[in-house]
Amino acid sequence: TNVESKESETPTDKLIGGLLTADFDEGSCSSRYQKTSLYRKPSPYKPSEYLVSKLRKYEMLHKRCGPGTEAYKKATEHLVHDEYYGSNGECRYIVWIAGYGLGNQLLTLTSAFLYALLTERIILVDQRKDINDLLCEPFPGTSWLLPLDFPIVKQIDYGYNKEYSRCYGTMVNNHAINSTSIPPHLYLHNLHDSRDEDKMFFCQKDQSLIDKVPWLIIKSNVYFVPSLWFNPTFHTELVKLFPQKDNVFHHLARYLLHPTNQVWGMVTRYYHAHLSKVDETLGIQIRVFRQDAGYFQHVMDQVVGCTQREKLLPELATQEDSKFNISNTPKLKSVLVTSLYPEYSDNLKNMYWERPSSTGEIIQVYQPSGERVQQTDTKAHDQKALAEIYLLSLTDNIVTSARSTFGYVAYSLGGLKPWLLYQPTGDATPDPPCVRSKSMEPCYLTPPSHGCEADWGKNSGLIVPFVKHCEDIMYGGLKLY
Ligand code: GDP
Repeated sequence: TNVESKESETPTDKLIGGLLTADFDEGSCSSRYQKTSLYRKPSPYKPSEYLVSKLRKYEMLHKRCGPGTEAYKKATEHLVHDEYYGSNGECRYIVWIAGYGLGNQLLTLTSAFLYALLTERIILVDQRKDINDLLCEPFPGTSWLLPLDFPIVKQIDYGYNKEYSRCYGTMVNNHAINSTSIPPHLYLHNLHDSRDEDKMFFCQKDQSLIDKVPWLIIKSNVYFVPSLWFNPTFHTELVKLFPQKDNVFHHLARYLLHPTNQVWGMVTRYYHAHLSKVDETLGIQIRVFRQDAGYFQHVMDQVVGCTQREKLLPELATQEDSKFNISNTPKLKSVLVTSLYPEYSDNLKNMYWERPSSTGEIIQVYQPSGERVQQTDTKAHDQKALAEIYLLSLTDNIVTSARSTFGYVAYSLGGLKPWLLYQPTGDATPDPPCVRSKSMEPCYLTPPSHGCEADWGKNSGLIVPFVKHCEDIMYGGLKLY
């Protein structure tokens, strides 16, 4: 039959072109190998062979240095005694500290992992929030979870901030960098309020010390990947790893972020109930950034304006052409709306129920949850958020809200170039309501203002031809194109 021949033409590639290792048992984390079969079209973006081989090498390193190994034990001893004499330990680490909303976390986790790949460190993740209820282990035969008895956890929570004497940016400002004395650990403060000195830890000059430090602790809430190209050594390596440039997050996220069975159950049940058997799907993510966030008519108008103008949804028929003949097999389109507020999808649903569409298409609208308030670190809430991010990534076309990391993860994971809804000013509907992005990469919202050594003082949007300002924010912002 038709269906069979279609399937044999596009065999689902469960290892995603070698991106995934075959060394895991399937049942413990169904999403790992099942993921590709849910995508309506296979991703046209193939990982480079160089990336694949780098990942296999990384996995070996992680196994050698991970928790429970002799190397890990030795490395943590330096922390306990707070001394390090640079005995070229074979294993170096970057510890990712969980914080902020889920979209932020997934972006920074992936950024920190890429930095680890480039610098031959291994990444360990803070498991005290609910990461373990959200994501499976990504590396075979070892663990990426930072052991709960990690020696300096308390200090990290209370004392690691911009004032901390081992905060890297602060050390730069205080001229406290001394290449002969190498501390056992450094803190990288890479948040929205970071100074250029904090943000630019990846520059060549800075790496000469940082590279020797066995433990880096990073608190971050930004997608700092685009800035890594400013370091010429990284640049050479990155171009080999990602020759297509605008699919870094797409590949790394499919490698690293595998929802747990519980979350995956939510994704697949919803997918089969509402998205799999229709002619076309559209995802719309509506995030309202304002103190009194909720339902606003100008946002509703913006969503309808954008989707109709861009022909993602049909107009409604006028009175006259409602004397139509419904086709026996009308085209069916599912719209998946995600938002904290249920009113947006309710309105859209009613709109297409009460009046026919001008094209005769049948539009069905679904919204999995409407949680109203953000409840980060509450297990059930975060699981829904992750399930919805994944569901959005499975749609054929996607509309997301400007500057929302939740939306960034969804479109990038799906390999989709989104339509970005501009952030409204006051109660006005932006005109135009949205812009089609030229890239499927997330935006680095608060990047350094200029480049590294040779590019000091040069606007950071003008340093690398394919690292440019983002379309969805007024100024600043860097994105790979
Ligand atoms: P950002 O604030 O839009 O950049 O995205 P984050 O994911 O970092 O933080 C927003 C958090 O609010 C999410 O992680 C969810 O906890 C919650 N949230 C926001 N929008 C939605 C949504 O559409 N669906 C669900 N389930 N949760 C949402």
